Amino acid sequence: MTIIHCVSVSTGKDSGATAIVALETEPRESLRFVSADTGNEHENYHDYLGYMERHLGIKIDVLRANFDREIAKKRTYVLTHWAGKGVPQADIERAAAALVPTGNPFLDLCIWKGKFPSRTAQFCTQYLKTELLTEYQLAFIERGEAEAVWSWQGVRIDESAARRKRLACPVHPSFHRTFDVVGAGLFNYRPILRWKAEDCFEAHRIAGLEPNPLYSQGMTRVGCMPCINAGKDEVLEISKRFPHHIERIEYWELMVGQASKRQASSFFPDPDRDAHLDKRGIRKVVEWSKTKRGGQLMDWIRIHEEPKACSSAYGLCE
Ligand code: SF4
Repeated sequence: MTIIHCVSVSTGKDSGATAIVALETEPRESLRFVSADTGNEHENYHDYLGYMERHLGIKIDVLRANFDREIAKKRTYVLTHWAGKGVPQADIERAAAALVPTGNPFLDLCIWKGKFPSRTAQFCTQYLKTELLTEYQLAFIERGEAEAVWSWQGVRIDESAARRKRLACPVHPSFHRTFDVVGAGLFNYRPILRWKAEDCFEAHRIAGLEPNPLYSQGMTRVGCMPCINAGKDEVLEISKRFPHHIERIEYWELMVGQASKRQASSFFPDPDRDAHLDKRGIRKVVEWSKTKRGGQLMDWIRIHEEPKACSSAYGLCE
C-alpha cells in the first residue's frame, strides 16, 4: 500500500518537533509538508518556513483560504434582504461597500461573517486551517498518488485539559488516541502526544533546528498575532514588542465593523462587559492588559480558563 505521510507545520515548536520525528522515521519520498497561512501571522512566518525548508531539506506547501465567492454572495444578500429586515438604507449601502475581498484570508473571513471569531465561535480554525488541510490531504488519494494518507499532527495532551479530554479514548479515558481512522483513506497520527514542551525544544536542539525566535521574545505561542485566545500577558507583550500588529487589528476592527449590521466589531471581548459595542476595541484591551494582576478586571479574559476550542485537529493553533 502506498502511504503518504503529510506533516502539518505552523512554525511552532510542536509541529517542528513532529516534522523532525517524521524525517527520522519515514522515507523522504513518502513525506509531504504543508502549512496554512491565515494572514494573521507574525511577519516572520514565511521567513521561518523558509529556514525550516533549508535546514531540513524539505519543501513546505503553503495554503491560503479564499473567500471571494462567499463575500460576493453576502453582498448580494445584504442588498436584497436587509431592507426587508428593517435595516436603514444608509446602513445597507455602507455594509455593501465594505463587502469587498482584501486578499487576506483572516480579514476576508471576518468581513464575510461580519464579526471576529471568538472562543465560543472559533470559526477561524475551521475555515483557515482544518478544511484546507483536509482537502489537501484527500487530494493525494483522489489523484491516485496514494492509497492512504497519514496526517501527522503536532498535538500534545500536556497542552491543555481540553485537548487531553478531546483525545481521550471513549472506552478507557485514561488512554489517549495516538492514531485515528478518519475515513476515505485518511488517518490521524499524533507522534508527540505524550511529549512535554521541553521535549519539543530538545528535539530541535538535537536536529540543530533553531526554534521560532518569537519564543525568545516573550511569546508563549506562535501563529496568529494575536490569537483570539491570547491571554492578558500575551496581549501586553505584543503591544510592547509588536505594536504594528495592534495597529493592524485596530484597522481590521474598523473594516469588519463596516461590513457588519451592528456597524462595529471588536477582536476581543471587552474588559467591561457592559460597554457598548462601538466603545470596544483592541486599544481598550491593551490598556486593560497593563492593569495589575488581581485588579478589578482580572477575571475578564479568564486567562486561567482553558480555551474551549483552540484545538485545531492539526495542532496548528498553539
Ligand atoms: S491561532 Fe488562534 S486566531 Fe489563529 S486560527 Fe488558531 S484559534 Fe484562530
